[in-house]
Amino acid sequence: MSSAQQIALEKLAQQIASCRACPLCEAATQAVPGEGNPNADVLCIGEGPGKDEDIQGRPFVGRAGKLLTEMIESIGWHREDVFIANVVKHRPPNNRDPEPAEVEACWGFLTKQIEIIQPRLIVTLGRHSMNRFFPDLKIGEAHGQLMQDETGQAFLPLYHPAAALYSPSQKELHVTDFAKIPAILKKLPQT
Ligand code: URA
Repeated sequence: MSSAQQIALEKLAQQIASCRACPLCEAATQAVPGEGNPNADVLCIGEGPGKDEDIQGRPFVGRAGKLLTEMIESIGWHREDVFIANVVKHRPPNNRDPEPAEVEACWGFLTKQIEIIQPRLIVTLGRHSMNRFFPDLKIGEAHGQLMQDETGQAFLPLYHPAAALYSPSQKELHVTDFAKIPAILKKLPQT
């Protein structure tokens, strides 16, 4: 049976698929709205779809995605337990950083996803995702630290899993930071 949250997310995904508010949709194969548990405690937010995600229409399914799935499983969860989304929903050409205007054009979709899912914890993946919520934070200092925005929403900034693909020391940091999630959730109020 579909929950109200699932229906709302599906409706939003249709709006995302037909969005023409910025040029990213022109080069992309399709939109990548996000996927997962509509009632998740944890919402993971990456930067934007890459090549594999653009082809499949699903977030984090390439090499970085495999590592993200591995991280999720390392704490005894399944990928389907969380919701996975990105700051921008269409792939930037050649995986370039999204332009500020493109991020701005897509921002309403992400805030709507947050509003529907009401995650207890938002895990930002990489500095671009973190800086969208906390413009002044440095990822080297903030990773693995529990943060709150002015609304009281809890955040855990993590390095992007792609960084861990090429560096064993980064991977170790990633594993250590990810392992904090269950204890953080225990401390956060139930919603
Ligand atoms: N990197 C991201 O930031 N998002 C994806 O969906 C895949 C790779």
